[in-house]
Amino acid sequence: MAEAALRPKDYKSGLKPIWCPGCGHYAVLNGLVKALAALGLDRDRVALVSGIGCSSRLPAYVDSYGFHGVHGRGLAVAQGLAVARPDLAVIALGGDGDGFSIGGNHFIHACRRNVDITYIAMDNEVYGMTKGQASPTTPMDWDHSKLTPHGPGIRPFKPAALALAAGAPWIARGYSGNPNQLAKLLAAALEHRGFSFLHVLSQCITYCPEQTDWKAVVSEREDDPVAHADAAAQLFLAEDGFATGLLYAEPRTPWPPAAPAAAADPRLAEAFRP
Ligand code: SF4
Ligand code: MG
Repeated sequence: MAEAALRPKDYKSGLKPIWCPGCGHYAVLNGLVKALAALGLDRDRVALVSGIGCSSRLPAYVDSYGFHGVHGRGLAVAQGLAVARPDLAVIALGGDGDGFSIGGNHFIHACRRNVDITYIAMDNEVYGMTKGQASPTTPMDWDHSKLTPHGPGIRPFKPAALALAAGAPWIARGYSGNPNQLAKLLAAALEHRGFSFLHVLSQCITYCPEQTDWKAVVSEREDDPVAHADAAAQLFLAEDGFATGLLYAEPRTPWPPAAPAAAADPRLAEAFRP
């Protein structure tokens, strides 16, 4: 049964986040509950699935179904859930270490599989929970960790370019310093039918305090999203990684195929028989 109109705070669980004061993940939590309220989604129709890390604590703070899972495996669980329960709004979320390192294989295959889920990658370019090791998005010369005193010396991933190359049909970037835009992007991601990848620049104030400088370089893209993969490839390979907004959206049929198509093909009908 549909719930009466809910306010953003109605989607909060009441548990107090244990993130450091100033952590960017607060903005993602606030943006998400705003988006859920704006779309009027019932709380028992929302499922959040995370991996491990500071950002992966987020499902505990939302009054919905939640699964705080295994490191890097949130996307696998989320896709299975979405296929089994297409009536749910399934949101996978986690950090850059969780999603692009141990979970990197799941990430690229989720992009190409195009199951109808939203994936929020809260990227602070560091492993925050385990005290500041370099992650796949850490700049080559970041020398603030004793483990990499001269910087990791390895080229970082470009998450948007990686998602595009793997087949993601919807790619946006948000910033924890722009909560209103973040809420709008989250609502748009949830409305999109298929795999929606929202890359969020979400500062780690404790291990990367220099990320407060992001506000000087982040920009809001005013153009319409690029609608063709070849043009998006040029954009993502050339950009500085700080342009925010819906960057790329190209219509693509989600997997699995809709029930009528499955029923029309006897092999698919057999595969999807209850
Ligand atoms: Fe946020 Fe960094 Fe603190 Fe983790 S260590 S809660 S990412 S500020
Ligand atoms: Mg991180």
